[in-house]
Amino acid sequence: MSATGEFNPLRESDRTMSRISGRNFLFVPGPTNIPDRVQRAMVVAMEDHRSSRFPELSASVFEDLKKVYKTEAGQVFIFPSSGTGAWEAALTNTLSPGDRLLTARLGHFSHLWIDMAERLGFEVRALDVPWGEGMPLEFIEAALRADTGREIKGILACHNETSTGVTSDIAGLRSVVDACGHSAMLFVDAVSSLGSIDFRMDEWGVDLAVSGSQKGLMLPAGLGILAVSPKALHAMQSATSRRCYFDLADMIATNASGYFPYTPALPMLHGLRESLNILFEEGLENVFSRHHYLAEGVRAAITEGWGLRLCARHPKWYSDTVSAVTVPEGIDAAHVIDVAFRRYNLALGSGLSNGAGRMFRIGHLGDLNELMLMGAIAGTEMAMLDADIEITSGSGVAAAAGFWRRHRQRQRCTEKSGRAGVIPDRADYQERVAVESALPVG
Ligand code: PLP
Repeated sequence: MSATGEFNPLRESDRTMSRISGRNFLFVPGPTNIPDRVQRAMVVAMEDHRSSRFPELSASVFEDLKKVYKTEAGQVFIFPSSGTGAWEAALTNTLSPGDRLLTARLGHFSHLWIDMAERLGFEVRALDVPWGEGMPLEFIEAALRADTGREIKGILACHNETSTGVTSDIAGLRSVVDACGHSAMLFVDAVSSLGSIDFRMDEWGVDLAVSGSQKGLMLPAGLGILAVSPKALHAMQSATSRRCYFDLADMIATNASGYFPYTPALPMLHGLRESLNILFEEGLENVFSRHHYLAEGVRAAITEGWGLRLCARHPKWYSDTVSAVTVPEGIDAAHVIDVAFRRYNLALGSGLSNGAGRMFRIGHLGDLNELMLMGAIAGTEMAMLDADIEITSGSGVAAAAGFWRRHRQRQRCTEKSGRAGVIPDRADYQERVAVESALPVG
């Protein structure tokens, strides 16, 4: 620390201030905090993954993942990879080289998926939208209507763009595709939404839904998860893209009896079993409403307390799993992140590609409650003050506390099955949260 009190991470004396006592506050938007129950479930002796008992575990996680995806018609696949592997599996199993794809570049992750598709030999038409916006439905509609020869084989959409904190309207996208009478498959990246933000595979007509283990499923990174509709499974038969490790045909052949074509990540599967138990004990709908309620408190801290801007340009796109915060001109967001990490043991998400230096991200997904987030908000506030951002000390904490004290999280009765009655749509649901939470607390 200098005489002026400024923290400089490049200076050795300041570096040694890094804390080792207490817990690291992990508030990146994945990997998320792993509940103790899940940690313990993963401490298992290795066992024979070809034993007659093994299918009990695999069959139960396949079946329960379908509930999280809200699909009855679809089939779920689990790869020992990460979400990126499931992206590749989705593309190569259902498309042939040269096939046309339609999408929009909303941020870092939608860009990476486009880049992968191009490197795999598909022809991608992508509209660049300003960071902070969601899927441009008008553009998709116009492009589909113009495609009279039905050359577009798939539409890629990132449900929750983790780099910008933007959630897109997948139900709206499905309506557009249906209105155009187009047969393109709908590929959706649900990596940072599944298990935290409502996702309805069957109802939204999603054909390929990609996810990973380290976000809403509260596990370490290491599983790429993919749900595939009957239409996409049918498309596999004529898809000529080269594939081997990610070939769904091998998975289908072995998964049918509860096995895998190669050695599965056994501790991860035990952890997944426990994380699914936890999600269903809370009730999926309660998990979604908790994420919304917690996210609203974080947004109150950012906008009302600190007076800063979210990257998301409209409330309809606000993400309930991650908030990307734009720092004032002249401030390096990377410095704020480093001060938070080294001085306060708080890990914030960095600004990615276009957002580098301009924003930091607060992840609010997974195993979380108000007071855990209070730690993150307080630490962020201190780091911003240390980095000379002009905010009022205590303002973010006060705004979040005010929100959470005034509002109540909507509760739905839980069922072990995870199907908790009729589920309102997002807009209706947000309106109801607002109405119900207007009741005085206590
Ligand atoms: N898609 C989104 C929206 C993501 O947030 C991420 C990772 O953060 C990925 C894809 C890539 O997933 P993975 O890092 O598990 O390969």
